[in-house]
Amino acid sequence: MAEPTHPGDEAAPGTPGTGENWCRTCGGSGRIETGACPDCGGTGKVVEGIGGA
Ligand SMILES: [Zn+2]
Repeated sequence: MAEPTHPGDEAAPGTPGTGENWCRTCGGSGRIETGACPDCGGTGKVVEGIGGA
């Protein structure tokens, strides 16, 4: 059940110790030059661990 929803996600939404952050690949726009951002699925946000490097 706790599977990342996008390639750029490190964890599923709501996972303890993680939170939403801007997608670095697209800078939060959800788009890259060639189209929708593959890492965040076009949402501009990814889920990643908090407090890590
Ligand atoms: Zn993105």
